[in-house]
Amino acid sequence: MWRAAAARLLRGGGAGSPRAGSPRAGSPRAASGAAAAQLRRRLESELEEIRGAGTWKSERVIASRQGPHLRLAGGGAGIINFCANNYLGLSSHPEVIRAAVEALEKFGAGLSSVRFICGTQSIHKDLEEKIARFHQREDAILYASCFDANAGIFEALLTPEDAVLSDELNHASIIDGIRLCKANKYRYKHMDMQDLEAKLKEAQKHRLRLVATDGAFSMDGDIAPLREICQLAQKYDALVFIDECHATGFLGPNGRGTDELLGVMDKVTIINSTLGKALGGAAGGYTTGPKPLIDLLRQRSRPYLFSNSLPPAVVGCASKALDLLMESNAIAQSMAAKTQRFRNKMTAAGFTISGKDHPICPVMLGDARLASVMAEDMLNRGIYVIGFSYPVVPKGKARIRVQISAVHSDEDIDSCVEAFTEVGRKHGALS
Ligand code: PLP
Repeated sequence: MWRAAAARLLRGGGAGSPRAGSPRAGSPRAASGAAAAQLRRRLESELEEIRGAGTWKSERVIASRQGPHLRLAGGGAGIINFCANNYLGLSSHPEVIRAAVEALEKFGAGLSSVRFICGTQSIHKDLEEKIARFHQREDAILYASCFDANAGIFEALLTPEDAVLSDELNHASIIDGIRLCKANKYRYKHMDMQDLEAKLKEAQKHRLRLVATDGAFSMDGDIAPLREICQLAQKYDALVFIDECHATGFLGPNGRGTDELLGVMDKVTIINSTLGKALGGAAGGYTTGPKPLIDLLRQRSRPYLFSNSLPPAVVGCASKALDLLMESNAIAQSMAAKTQRFRNKMTAAGFTISGKDHPICPVMLGDARLASVMAEDMLNRGIYVIGFSYPVVPKGKARIRVQISAVHSDEDIDSCVEAFTEVGRKHGALS
């Protein structure tokens, strides 16, 4: 019987195949009924509100690999790209790509399983060991993303007896992760150590205190005052958690991150970071820290327990990226030199660049419209940068964010500064 059914399906005559008057195969089907119509009206009005508020995010389609030079779909070749988190240029590094292909061929496309059922391969264990070694921690656990790592840690670790103290400008994934846990929540003003101390005093009544902060903040390119945070944590008997997505691989003398940069590697208890930015840029995230914590996450962390294993090709990329970084710090140093070149030249041209030394270089403009038209004009000159305005950043603090990569040439940097100077003069951002 199944043979007859299969033959019907192949001929296009199955139970679900289109009949006269029904949509053709492959064309979208609109659900019918009053509830579906009501939903459609509500969604359309919500989308209209987003457009009306000027906060619509459109996606530019890239028709080439990620890298310093891009081709956009529908033309636009030779665009110089300054808006990826590809800090070390490893997203298209030939050795990283080769490692991905080798892992794909040897270990297959994917695991079709979560880790604890039949989704753990030797390469997953090797990468976890490598990450722990890189950060000089006891153990590490992989996730499908750092968003998942942040969503999974607080709920697994903290109970209603505990407290978490979070910087008000922490990444959305930390905020969401904290929302999921039942601990007592304190939000301290951005990088304000007086406020953190006041909140730590208030939180003394709880069993355990965890201070959570981004190591480097992606909108401002500023670096958390980790030395002071660790001193306060010691004084008030708290643990320190950092999200190192914009630091791993390039901050600090050996690229270990903010804790290495600020000399507090032995004072930070937990690190979450991503494999989707400097470390090859494919995808994936992790937690690294004390072994019993990692063991507990393997038992309790929901995004780990209930989501598929990282695909082998992705593991291959990250593993090779870490090998390259552990062999030499030359790539990170080259990025630091280019960052300095950009920051110095832009400051000399009369622009204000937020943050210090970080490859995230926000060109502060203030006015939202100015940021948007200048970004558009930069693209017309072949420089791809993005303007950010409220609600992504505070009102009156609109900016164009420029991100420097090790694979930008000095000429790329200089072209970017020249274009900014021209466009800035044209729109009155420079006198
Ligand atoms: N944390 C920070 C600070 C980030 O910037 C990001 C990504 O934008 C994430 C977490 C999420 O990382 P992933 O892309 O691996 O989910």
